[in-house]
Amino acid sequence: MKNSRVCPKCQNDEIVRIPGEARAFGAGNNILVGGTIFSAAKVTRYLCASCGFSEEWVGSADDLASIKKKYAT
Ligand SMILES: [Zn+2]
Repeated sequence: MKNSRVCPKCQNDEIVRIPGEARAFGAGNNILVGGTIFSAAKVTRYLCASCGFSEEWVGSADDLASIKKKYAT
């Protein structure tokens, strides 16, 4: 959906991009990867405005590396 700009569930092309955020106390769409909010990986959401299906993407390669380091088994 991020790449195709079309909803895979209903084929609608009204895709809303909701940017990830990392605010105080972990508010916003993010994944905590370190001891503080300043190291949180931001997660961008893509939402179909027709059926409500949503996808989430971590946009930064650095963040992906940090998540992998913390969560991969
Ligand atoms: Zn849809």
